[in-house]
Amino acid sequence: MTPDRNLYSQLPAIDKLLRDASFSDLLRNFGHTQVVSTLREMLETAREYIRTQQQLPTWNGNWAAQAQVQLESHQRSALQPVFNLTGTVLHTNLGRALQAEAAIEAVTNAMRFPVTLEYDLHGAERGHRDKALAGLLCELTGAEDACIVNNNAAAVLLMLAACASGENVVVSRGELVEIGGAFRIPDVMRQAGCKLVEVGTTNRTHLKDYRQAAGENTALLMKVHTSNYQVAGFTKAVTEAELVELGNELNIPVVTDLGSGSLVDLTQWGLPEEPMPQQLIAAGVSLVSFSGDKLLGGPQAGIIVGKKDLIARIQSHPLKRALRADKMTLAALEATLRLYQHPETLVERLPTLRLLTRDANEITELAQRLLPEFQSQYGEQFTVCVEPCLSQIGSGSLPVDRLPSSALTFSPKDGRGSTLGALTQSLRELPKPIIGRISDGRLWLDLRCLEDETGFMENLKP
Ligand SMILES: *Cc1c(COP(=O)(O)O)cnc(C)c1O
Repeated sequence: MTPDRNLYSQLPAIDKLLRDASFSDLLRNFGHTQVVSTLREMLETAREYIRTQQQLPTWNGNWAAQAQVQLESHQRSALQPVFNLTGTVLHTNLGRALQAEAAIEAVTNAMRFPVTLEYDLHGAERGHRDKALAGLLCELTGAEDACIVNNNAAAVLLMLAACASGENVVVSRGELVEIGGAFRIPDVMRQAGCKLVEVGTTNRTHLKDYRQAAGENTALLMKVHTSNYQVAGFTKAVTEAELVELGNELNIPVVTDLGSGSLVDLTQWGLPEEPMPQQLIAAGVSLVSFSGDKLLGGPQAGIIVGKKDLIARIQSHPLKRALRADKMTLAALEATLRLYQHPETLVERLPTLRLLTRDANEITELAQRLLPEFQSQYGEQFTVCVEPCLSQIGSGSLPVDRLPSSALTFSPKDGRGSTLGALTQSLRELPKPIIGRISDGRLWLDLRCLEDETGFMENLKP
């Protein structure tokens, strides 16, 4: 017999393993189907291992323990909770805004019970899905009506398709934004069936540029908020108010893709200024679109507020049905918007705002409290320190502005990138992974978004 063949014969049979007492817990917790398919995979791996390495895998003596590891890793959610210590508060890859407790409760109810989504309790008529929220949005923004879709990209697409399909839309060359994830204004225009008419230059666009470009076929004058970049230096942009004046004269509606849009004045908390939908509505803009999960701090959604006749056109466009928000989104959005009716408690109750306004000294104190534990666990290989850093808002909101914060930093004593990589990886493998940021040859854990200090320390225990 070749040594190989001898090794193959040492692999156990599945039915024999299943009868072993060591498998009874696994069978109860994961079920026969999953346990058997895992064992088949393991056998396959073991045979492959024998073929390539001429030896048995190390776990050959303990199939139950290895099966448990594999079954547990299969069970792990694809949407695993993590600690976001990247320093970016609205991190698109980590799900942007954390929801307020009120929103979480509202979503849970909408999931658990039938709700009056399109049902009016006071009349026999079938209610409109966005109706309840439209009232709230009008109250908060001063608009006449509102429409809610899946995200702001969908809002822009729908707005253009419903109001300007087959016609021209005038946009400044300084505002031909790419957001990332393939959202580019020229491409969205094409998809919506509109013809983009670019005016002005990258750095300067004047009112006369819009006037010259507007003609018979012009359906809209459009402004796009340059949310993820800034044009600085010798610049000129036309304000919405100026454009509305021209629009009124030519009888062409002005619309704005505001990107983030904040429903409250952020400067009252010392944050950078961000345009508010209510300001644009007051300036006479016909339609304003913005995201639900950027500075608003709610669920992923696209919100369009504006004039009644245009919103009616949008609501009846076939794409609205394809892009509409579901009941969970609407429930979370409604609960979030209600927090804005009570601005005195907004910072406390809206996580996005609470994290953005967090005091730098409080973050430093937190870092100092955590430092000894990290020094004792990682001090052998790394110099662990508390250092000042700058957090960013993220999701293309207020791209240039930074918020003073504090981080735990880890510099590898051997100066090697691979040591740093191994640390980053081991933090990602904790029960609740910790996601930081590498910069200047160090790992930075910006503590701005760490609120659960106890859970964080528990998570570190070996
Ligand atoms: C973020 C953004 C979008 C896309 O919004 P989503 O809600 O991410 O779909 C569109 N336009 C601008 C200007 C943005 O900043």
